[in-house]
Amino acid sequence: MPESTTVIVGASIGGVRTAQALRSEGYPGAIVLIGAEGELPYDKPPLSKSILAGDSTMAEITLLTTEQARELDLELRLGQPAIRLSTANRDVELADGTRVAFDNLVLATGARARPSPWGTPNGLHVIRTAADARALRRHLGTTDHLVIIGGGFIGAETAATAVELGMRVTLVDPEPVPMARVMGAEIGELFIDLHRRRGVDTRFGVGVESVHGEHGSFAIGLSDGSTLAADTVVVGIGAIPNDDWLESSGLEVSNGVVCDVYCRAIGHDNIYAVGDVCRFDNTRRGGSTRLEHWTNAVEQAVVVARNIARPDKKMRHEPVEYVWSDQYDWKIQTVGLAGSSTHTVIGEVTNKARFAVCYPDENGRLAGVVVVNWPKALVTARKAIALGVEYAEFAARLEAMTVSARTTVKETT
Ligand SMILES: Cc1cc2nc3c(=O)[nH]c(=O)nc-3n(C[C@H](O)[C@H](O)[C@H](O)COP(=O)(O)OP(=O)(O)OC[C@H]3O[C@@H](n4cnc5c(N)ncnc54)[C@H](O)[C@@H]3O)c2cc1C
Repeated sequence: MPESTTVIVGASIGGVRTAQALRSEGYPGAIVLIGAEGELPYDKPPLSKSILAGDSTMAEITLLTTEQARELDLELRLGQPAIRLSTANRDVELADGTRVAFDNLVLATGARARPSPWGTPNGLHVIRTAADARALRRHLGTTDHLVIIGGGFIGAETAATAVELGMRVTLVDPEPVPMARVMGAEIGELFIDLHRRRGVDTRFGVGVESVHGEHGSFAIGLSDGSTLAADTVVVGIGAIPNDDWLESSGLEVSNGVVCDVYCRAIGHDNIYAVGDVCRFDNTRRGGSTRLEHWTNAVEQAVVVARNIARPDKKMRHEPVEYVWSDQYDWKIQTVGLAGSSTHTVIGEVTNKARFAVCYPDENGRLAGVVVVNWPKALVTARKAIALGVEYAEFAARLEAMTVSARTTVKETT
């Protein structure tokens, strides 16, 4: 008989990586991985990129095969959402009525797409799951004009993918510069410019008032009085954490499961959360934060596995945040905290883009960097932020890197 059981609810990157990390830590107990979706666990970022483009298959983005689950001695319960948690009984109830008892519980239920305020007519899509991506891809085959509502990362990536598939694309967002939320207005403009140069019609600073029709005949009313005709509509207006099923559990839930710096649910020593559903005490930002980034889920999985397997050597989650996005031939990577109005741009922005934007914190240290197509700058930035390097010193270091790169190119030509 195993000495303890860890139940993980949510079988995507956060849940799967927690299970794998538990075994790497030498956790000897039973592990049960519960997933709402019927298919094998898969990775989400490719859904708006290579899966939508038709360049990857589901097999290529599978996170865990049945064989790998067997090797790790994991019990997989797929196709059954958890519907209730009893902290008193230490069990989780599944939709089919079965109860799964735990000693330790990891909540990894992620987030779902914020629902469309205009209903779900045939031809209107969100992208969060493989089923969503498949449904959208089917409609893209008969789409000339795609309208995307929401100019955040997922909307922008979908626009890039659709343009490369040969569609006419209009991107609508009520913010004048949607990416300003993440990287400040001036840098956000660079991203608008990127899409415009590729032919995307951007309608920013206008809201959507109505969506009528269905696939092939949508009419989208905008707040400036104009109407867009579209064959297909994608709504990418954010995500909401899957925490509703915990309502009666007594856990502190407030736009995510509220956790301490160890990713442990407040007041519950044996319950943890990872990934998009986890609101943790973020000492670097100061305050309680929920991050919707792939790398954060992976790093929290390692932290939580350690804290379950070796409770005497608890690990804190104090990440240097990292998120990437692929749009056309731009690989955009953000490390640390970007977005303040003070910043320095280093590198080549226009033609063959390869640049970095550096942002300081209020003490003059490097707070964050947005990097486009410049992996070496990213590695340098990561280290510098972790070490608390001065902003000016880091900018000078990057500047020197561009000079030495230019010299090398000159010397070799
Ligand atoms: C289209 C798309 C593109 C993205 N691109 C990027 C990117 O380029 N870079 C980046 O950093 N991040 C990206 N992200 C974000 C990243 O994928 C998420 O941060 C990451 O998937 C979070 O992992 P998670 O395991 O916490 O949650 P999720 O991936 O949301 O998985 C949660 C899982 O739990 C299951 N579940 C939910 N409720 C229950 C329940 N009650 N019982 C059992 N199971 C349940 C769900 O079915 C789901 O499979 C993207 C996300 C999407 C949707």
